[in-house]
Amino acid sequence: MKITGVKTHFVEWVRGPYHWRDGIMPNGPVGRAGLLRIQTDEGVEGLSPYGGGANIEEIKWQLIGADPLNRERIWQDFWRNLRSSKLGLAIGAVDCALWDLLGKASDMPVYKLLGGMRDRIPAYASTVTLDSMEEYMELADVCLKKGYKAIKLHAWGRLEQDAELCRRLRKKVGDDIVLMYDASSMFNLYEDAVWFGRQLEKYNFYWYEEPLDHFNMTVLARLAQELDIPLAVAEATHGGPWDAHAQIQAGAADIILTGPLDAYKGGLTGVLKTAHICEAYGMMCAVHGGAIPHLHAACAIYNTKYFERLVPETYYSPPGIVDASTEIDSEGYAQPWDKPGLGIEVDWEWVKKHTVREEG
Ligand SMILES: [Mg+2]
Repeated sequence: MKITGVKTHFVEWVRGPYHWRDGIMPNGPVGRAGLLRIQTDEGVEGLSPYGGGANIEEIKWQLIGADPLNRERIWQDFWRNLRSSKLGLAIGAVDCALWDLLGKASDMPVYKLLGGMRDRIPAYASTVTLDSMEEYMELADVCLKKGYKAIKLHAWGRLEQDAELCRRLRKKVGDDIVLMYDASSMFNLYEDAVWFGRQLEKYNFYWYEEPLDHFNMTVLARLAQELDIPLAVAEATHGGPWDAHAQIQAGAADIILTGPLDAYKGGLTGVLKTAHICEAYGMMCAVHGGAIPHLHAACAIYNTKYFERLVPETYYSPPGIVDASTEIDSEGYAQPWDKPGLGIEVDWEWVKKHTVREEG
């Protein structure tokens, strides 16, 4: 089989604006997403969603004529080029599309090909940042009613206020719901990070995500030593499996985060490599992000417990690139469709109508 075409559609659509903690640039009222199509001489096509900034055009020449089933060869060729070009996002999209293509060529869902650990997985509701305590409480009600058994807060990044939110949420949901907190690298001072970690321990949170910048490994290691609550880190590192290993070796991580469409993580192949490194250390590897490739990754690897689903759900996904398979059931589980490949369904009419740039 040979790759004969690499096409991209970049779409824009109007949605509600949303934001994260203080200091992080908000997401505006226009959603932007890419759809990558890798075409072959045998008519099978691999698809992957991707984020803005993926430089697909730059790597296209390297794909044409290649055997799309040689994913590791292609992955290694790209990975060796990360130092000199903006391929950090592109490698993830290409790798996910090649796995989709393999799934279609072999009539198997991707998660079975990746490993096949489980057919469904509990999802956790991962909030955007809301404007008031009351809104968080209302959203928690909606999530519990839907079936979620775990909730992760992206709060304001204000020490006392965030701690009060954690207290109120624990009180509201009771002891049986799993809670996590994502600081999105908000702390600069060790003493603040420790104080907040102690609040999370008091309210029995499961993990404390990215308290500090990932490159601040000395302080992260000190924090991991000091606190009992597990630190989930490495979401923003740039060296994929190698950086995950460095974080573990530094004692800076209790749980490693990685995602198939994140920059410099290396797609589904990179997630597998990272998860297997963590497995050797008896460590959890949490999949960051809530689109279809993430669900397949979470169902494929042993040492993960949850699939992340952003709530409210309507903010995130392009309506014409359907990821209904990431919807959860009444027990709070998400399950990939029993379809070949990733199971991405594209409403081509919608894509055509919303495409602002097309290449290939
Ligand atoms: Mg995070």
